[in-house]
Amino acid sequence: MTELAQPRPREITQEIQKIQESYDAFKAKGLKLNLTRGKPSTAQLNLSADLLSLPGAADYFAEGANDCRNYGILQGLAEARRLFSDIMGAAPEQVVVANNSSLALMHDTVVYALLKGTCEGSTPWSKLHEVAFLCPVPGYDRHFKICEDYGIRMIPVALREDGPDMHAVEQLTAQDPSIKAMWCVPKYSNPTGIVYSDAVIERLAAMKTAATDFRLYWDNAYAVHHLTHERIEIANIIELCARHGHPNRPFVFGSTSKVTLAGSGLALFAGSRENVNWLLSRFTPRTIGPDKINQLRHVRFLKNEAGILQLMEGHRALIAPKFQRVLEIFDDKLAHIPNVTWTRPKGGYFITLNVPNGCARRVVALAKGAGIELTPAGATHPYGKDPDDSTIRIAPTFPELAEVEQAAEGVALCVLVATAENVGLARA
Ligand code: PLP
Repeated sequence: MTELAQPRPREITQEIQKIQESYDAFKAKGLKLNLTRGKPSTAQLNLSADLLSLPGAADYFAEGANDCRNYGILQGLAEARRLFSDIMGAAPEQVVVANNSSLALMHDTVVYALLKGTCEGSTPWSKLHEVAFLCPVPGYDRHFKICEDYGIRMIPVALREDGPDMHAVEQLTAQDPSIKAMWCVPKYSNPTGIVYSDAVIERLAAMKTAATDFRLYWDNAYAVHHLTHERIEIANIIELCARHGHPNRPFVFGSTSKVTLAGSGLALFAGSRENVNWLLSRFTPRTIGPDKINQLRHVRFLKNEAGILQLMEGHRALIAPKFQRVLEIFDDKLAHIPNVTWTRPKGGYFITLNVPNGCARRVVALAKGAGIELTPAGATHPYGKDPDDSTIRIAPTFPELAEVEQAAEGVALCVLVATAENVGLARA
């Protein structure tokens, strides 16, 4: 814009007034909308309705005449381990199928390492002066919560289009032996939707770390959760780490929470044989075996990898239009606003909306005032503190499409109000 074309102060004031009026009109509708919940909608859960009547009263024997009603089979059913082997990128012997939450598995592996050390026989992490995890930001708040709860120092590293800032990651891990691990959501990341490039994954596998028992917490929660026709695949972290001489580096996690039933899915772990044996040895004092009826039910229902991918097509048909509408509304209302951007995920459950520095909390507060619940600003960063106050996580899967549309319109208005206020403040 040339100097001459700059809007005059009166025009700016009028524009701000117009935006405020639109916001007030939206608020007056008294809506109750929620974009915080990264969970499947009822229609998505209904796709797996048949699970509720499986395996059936007479079907409780798994392979090897194992009675699923009984104790035992710590590592999970062989047929369930086979079912998820390709998705986890590991041979069935290197897969553990557990109970319903991969977050619980991540939590437990952190606690086991703190209390007992890792499979290398290292000093339990809790006995060390300091333990730190690298945390790509923006990231998943519940990963950060685990660290916060157990006094693990969190070191943020920037998450870029192709994965974490590897220069920073390599420098930090090479120098600091207290850095024991790094959180990674390598595919359709929570909350930006980015996918780690093969080059980044290779560097994570190859890098030298000062900690000899360094772990990648490889949370591949969205392995099959595509939003487009493109089924993006990523490099195999287990194979790459082994090739680079660090076979025990990756702890790979997955789950069927957003494939079948979020509260009654299966949690998955994969890693080197040493890591698997270590995990099973940690399970031994804790449990006599997982819920194998749920495993059998999943095997009967999903059948094979093709069955999983077909089910995921059903999810895509339900949620892709919701993402699409949010993006269309942001494109329409916000494309001209400086320093406002948003991600266009090809999979996963979230869109990240970036607003000008210092505006995210204000947008969330304005949204609340207008009846739209958003994830608290800062939740995407360690200790709930986004130093730029600029990141907002949008979760469009749970509400009905019409509600998603209304909420996206409302959020866009809140961004306009907050950025207009910024302009006003800058002029004051
Ligand atoms: N990991 C990531 C990255 C997630 O976004 C979520 C849920 O939103 C989970 C794990 C939770 O997985 P689960 O239901 O298996 O505990």
